[in-house]
Amino acid sequence: MPKKYTAQCACGAVKFEFNTDPTFIADCNCLDCRKASGGAMATWFAVPEDDFTLISGKPKSFHYIADSGNGLDRNFCPDCGARLFSSNLQGFPGMVFVTIGSLDNPGGIGPKLEMFTKRRLKWMKALDVPQFPAMPS
Ligand SMILES: [Zn+2]
Ligand SMILES: [Zn+2]
Repeated sequence: MPKKYTAQCACGAVKFEFNTDPTFIADCNCLDCRKASGGAMATWFAVPEDDFTLISGKPKSFHYIADSGNGLDRNFCPDCGARLFSSNLQGFPGMVFVTIGSLDNPGGIGPKLEMFTKRRLKWMKALDVPQFPAMPS
């Protein structure tokens, strides 16, 4: 039986799932989220690593150092290039950050905070959620 939440890349080669109802859900305006997603910002949320199950495909990972100085791996589908999740998060051990666009049914999940608002594009309006100029501490 599949877990509560199922997710996949744009071409369907990479699939993963988890049961945890996300609580840390962020609209992130950091430079990496912008560049890596190709959009104005990215919405992603935290899932415990031990609940995160890769069920098909082999995501490729790219290691980098975030604005915070912490290292992490950004994982994407090597076939279609879709950004999927971040792992090996030095700043958040034991968690995986999943991009909302990966979800098969993202409807029930919305941002609880906005971060790196110092990098938000001028034409974007702030949501009615807590605002953080950089990473919340
Ligand atoms: Zn793909
Ligand atoms: Zn970001």
